[in-house]
Amino acid sequence: MEGRAQHNVDVLGWLADALEELDCQSLRRIRRCRQSAQGRIIWLDGRELVNFGSNDYLGLASDPRLVAAVKEGLEKEGWGSGASALVCGRSSAHAALEEALAKFEGCEATLVFPTGFAANAGTIAALVGPGDAVYCDRKNHASIIDGCKLSRADLRVFPHADVDTLDHLLAKPHRHRRRLVVTDTLFSMDGDLAPIPQLVDVCERHRAILMVDEAHATGVFGNRGRGVVEFYGVEERVPVRVGTLSKGLGSVGGFVVGSTALVEWLVQKARPYMFSTALPGAACYAAMAALKVVEQEPHRRALVVQKAEFLREALKREGWNIGLSASQIIPIVVRQPNVALSLARFLETRGFFVPAIRPPAVPDDEACLRVSVTFHHQHSDLERLVETLGEAKRKLGLGN
Ligand code: PMP
Repeated sequence: MEGRAQHNVDVLGWLADALEELDCQSLRRIRRCRQSAQGRIIWLDGRELVNFGSNDYLGLASDPRLVAAVKEGLEKEGWGSGASALVCGRSSAHAALEEALAKFEGCEATLVFPTGFAANAGTIAALVGPGDAVYCDRKNHASIIDGCKLSRADLRVFPHADVDTLDHLLAKPHRHRRRLVVTDTLFSMDGDLAPIPQLVDVCERHRAILMVDEAHATGVFGNRGRGVVEFYGVEERVPVRVGTLSKGLGSVGGFVVGSTALVEWLVQKARPYMFSTALPGAACYAAMAALKVVEQEPHRRALVVQKAEFLREALKREGWNIGLSASQIIPIVVRQPNVALSLARFLETRGFFVPAIRPPAVPDDEACLRVSVTFHHQHSDLERLVETLGEAKRKLGLGN
């Protein structure tokens, strides 16, 4: 027994040093614990804070209509789905959600995955493999990057939003069987929009498949809330669209939008769909309730857009670097991780939760505070945040 314990200590002995190293670089994550429902105000580790850290953009995660829908789902289906979708995990709730999503997105078919991460990674690896090429924006979400690696297709990373370089790369002679271009539509840390119309043109010209991830845009962008492709009016020209149910829609899960053939192919080949337990049916009920709200209450997204615009302008006026943000995601770029952490800690002492974002979530030297504006924020929250940031700047001795 003693010998075995000794052996375990030795093989993982490097962990303490590696964690210490992360600490020294201000890169160690601590797990927070929330003691309240998601919302404008949260209790985090015993402190009451105005919440600028959630992706619940439309304020639906704790909406009574979603809660009631979950209760109804629980009554009908119990909790666990008990198996992967292909075995017997897919219930009438999943089928109804897929139908509702197809109607909402105005497309032939959709496929619901256990998470958005699984939808991205599984879809990429199902569409391309050895002998193919995948072109990935440098700032794409981790689930896209992991999907690209997992696919074992030749990976070409193009500079962020750089359509000319992508055009150049695609114009090179090649022997690839298939070529896939993947991009977030609304970048999750920078809050900027991908140049979707130009990407559509380039992909069509070079006969590459375009896949977009609307994770942060679903429910927020576009007239009907379909996302950035709707905002630019190019839904029909983007063959593979991924979304999440976990952000604007306030639930959990991911989905793919496209043709019947695409969905049928993913059913055969997307490994996270095949080998992961299906979502609980009750989560599908919540997502369907959220889709109804998105349809019936367009003022929610209009207000998010307005509030975010107000905050972006106010921050810019105060001299903060918010990069190219054009959305409800507003980074306050400070570059060094320790500065981001100090700012976040200061804001917490003044009653605000704004997460510090550090590598590997952003490239080295791009540490920031990531402000998420949601439907529930009051105008005074935004004003007080700007004021308090000014106080932080003076107290912490930060220049611009
Ligand atoms: N895509 C993007 C751009 C994201 O930011 C995230 C979540 N942070 C995901 C996909 C994954 O979605 P989920 O949380 O539903 O797994």
